[in-house]
Amino acid sequence: MDLGIRGKTAIVCAGSKGLGFGCAEALAQAGVNLVINARSKGPLEDAAEKLRAHGVDVTTVAADITTRMGQESVLNTAGVVDILVNNAGGPPPGMWSDWSREDFIAALDANMLTPIAMMKACLPGMMERGWGRVVNITSQSVKSPIPVLGLSNSARAGLTGYVAGTSRQVAPAGVTINNLQPGIHATDRAVSLDSGVAQQQGISINEAKAARCETIPVRRYGTATEFGAACAFLCSQHAGFIVGQNILLDGGAVNSTM
Ligand code: NAP
Repeated sequence: MDLGIRGKTAIVCAGSKGLGFGCAEALAQAGVNLVINARSKGPLEDAAEKLRAHGVDVTTVAADITTRMGQESVLNTAGVVDILVNNAGGPPPGMWSDWSREDFIAALDANMLTPIAMMKACLPGMMERGWGRVVNITSQSVKSPIPVLGLSNSARAGLTGYVAGTSRQVAPAGVTINNLQPGIHATDRAVSLDSGVAQQQGISINEAKAARCETIPVRRYGTATEFGAACAFLCSQHAGFIVGQNILLDGGAVNSTM
């Protein structure tokens, strides 16, 4: 399917690996020029090289997207932005009693206030031009809490609330905002989550992964490629009627009727 977005420009935050890279690659395949960001320069340049193979322009910005300086350098590099994919690393796991005010502020900064700042910067231009797409990578934990990810549950729920109202305010100008809610996907983040479980339960990482797969109806982890394809569709010309939605990509793991 032609997504109808060839020649547009997208920012993909935290896009050198994992789900962010999956989104960047699917957009590159659709002919979208990219500004991709991550903190570590080496993997970022490697990712850019792979993306250029799809024949699009790719610019890299090595910066921490959760800082004001990082956000500004990404935005200044991109200039006119048609598509914004918000992403950042997830907060660490723990118990409800573990986290201090500072831990909450860091999680809110990374997973709520950073995507809001990026949207506030990009939405006016998109609205003026009458077209724009924003996709926020959030988590299955917004729909069905993951107890050990209390920081993530909290911060992402805040972002989801902001998007629910804002998406309806910008939709009349041809701009859509939607959230993608990943369940477990085979990325570095999953390896680190499985390592935590393995350590806690005195089992191997493979055993931890196998046990988790048993809880997923499709009996496997998702792939960054599948995730990226869903993101690219939401960014396409065909998705203009999808507004303010939270779309689960979880292999059926969340057991609910709607
Ligand atoms: P990942 O494989 O660990 O990749 C994270 C990417 O983000 C890397 O490119 C990393 O590069 C970049 N990054 C991290 N912190 C950054 C920062 N402060 N500024 C700029 N770039 C940053 O993670 P993932 O699995 O793709 O997860 C992406 C998001 O989805 C996370 O928020 C995660 O919590 C959430 N999520 C993932 C899953 C899953 O199963 N994978 C499930 C639910 C939710 P650098 O380290 O070089 O900066």
